[in-house]
Amino acid sequence: MLRIVRILSLGLLLTCPACQHGRMFRSRFTMNVRCPVCGVIFERDAGEVTGGMAINMTLTSAFALVAGGLLSVFTTLPALLLILAIGMATVTFGLLFYRHARGLWTSILYLTGSIFED
Ligand SMILES: [Zn+2]
Repeated sequence: MLRIVRILSLGLLLTCPACQHGRMFRSRFTMNVRCPVCGVIFERDAGEVTGGMAINMTLTSAFALVAGGLLSVFTTLPALLLILAIGMATVTFGLLFYRHARGLWTSILYLTGSIFED
């Protein structure tokens, strides 16, 4: 169990789950194909990026629901301002969490045996 938490944490921190040293991303939105330290391929099959996108969409939607619910209950903001604020916060959260969602997905792939050293 501790190993699973550690591997998922490495993914959230954008660090290679295999060697625990290599960086997953070389720029803001560009993921390395291979780990620069150990050389494992992060997303071996085509379409694996959709797992990270699904995590990002799910957590961003949950964030929007919770934030919208809390703001509508605990504030007296007009509805239009509330919708605009939630919309902007949701887009910002989705963009900021994108890399971490892909890193988390890469960790899940590693835990399921889909990422391995050649
Ligand atoms: Zn590595």
